[in-house]
Amino acid sequence: MLSISGLSHTYPNGTRALDDVTLEIPRGMFGLLGPNGAGKSSLMRCLATLQVPSAGAIRFDGIDVLAEPEKLRATLGYLPQDFGVYPRVSAWDMLDHLAVLKGVAGRGERRETVEALLQQVNLWEVRKKAIAGFSGGMRQRFGIAQALIANPRLIIVDEPTAGLDPEERNRFNNLLAEIGENVVVILSTHIVDDVTDLCSRMAILVGGRIVRAGTPRALIDELRGRVWSASVPKDELPALRERLPVIATRLRGGQPMVHVLADARPDTGFEPVEAGLEDVYFSTLHAHRSAGTHGNGHGAGQPAAALAA
Ligand code: ADP
Repeated sequence: MLSISGLSHTYPNGTRALDDVTLEIPRGMFGLLGPNGAGKSSLMRCLATLQVPSAGAIRFDGIDVLAEPEKLRATLGYLPQDFGVYPRVSAWDMLDHLAVLKGVAGRGERRETVEALLQQVNLWEVRKKAIAGFSGGMRQRFGIAQALIANPRLIIVDEPTAGLDPEERNRFNNLLAEIGENVVVILSTHIVDDVTDLCSRMAILVGGRIVRAGTPRALIDELRGRVWSASVPKDELPALRERLPVIATRLRGGQPMVHVLADARPDTGFEPVEAGLEDVYFSTLHAHRSAGTHGNGHGAGQPAAALAA
């Protein structure tokens, strides 16, 4: 169990990236969802002992992480957002080198470790090729292999699927899903589907604060019966946004479909739809942004979601 309490972080330039974050994260896959700039990487770096927070405490299985960072490091696997890749070094040599750094000292043990990991992430065939020539998906799979060296009990992956094509993303997520149930895996992402596909628990971070936390199912259930959908001509969208709490807009066959959050049918033409995690996420962002700009939870003119095909 990972316990984060009252964690705040302010950068020297005055940016308050984390604001009193408190979370209990049990074993299994935990999704940390938030828009760009929400503070996800700042939180991941604090948890990975790469950055000392301004205030708060972190405990993991009896380790006081801020007081004993080296103890945590011994059991941590971390895939940062921008994993530095070393040109012209083969996947095998790089992993072997990283295993040395991680304390896998014996040659035989290291060979076994490196071989098993390369098989696991499906890079065995290209083990002698330079990482510099790998695709984005292959690099991320290599990134997971290095994070898994020496059987960590806490694994942190920061926005691993950003920039991957759907097939690579799928492959990567399948790999994450195979990581044991007995470890804590924290997946930070702004991609709702990653959390839907993988995570048994989640939290939403906005503006450095945890604004929602729970199981995806429970958060979705809170919206049951309150999400309505309609197809709307493009030129009517701005007026609709003025009138109704539009939480998301996406294109279906070139035509905007809007999702509106309301206790009763908001307008003729709207049909009830089953709520999904996207509705949870976008309604949370919407409420937060509206509160910031209008203070009434029904902000006008602020699209919660970018138009997505
Ligand atoms: P996310 O990972 O959710 O995109 P970040 O943790 O990267 O969010 O950033 C949170 C906020 O902190 C942003 O406003 C960002 O500009 C700021 N920030 C991040 N790193 C630094 C830094 N080293 N110095 C100053 N501000 C930073």
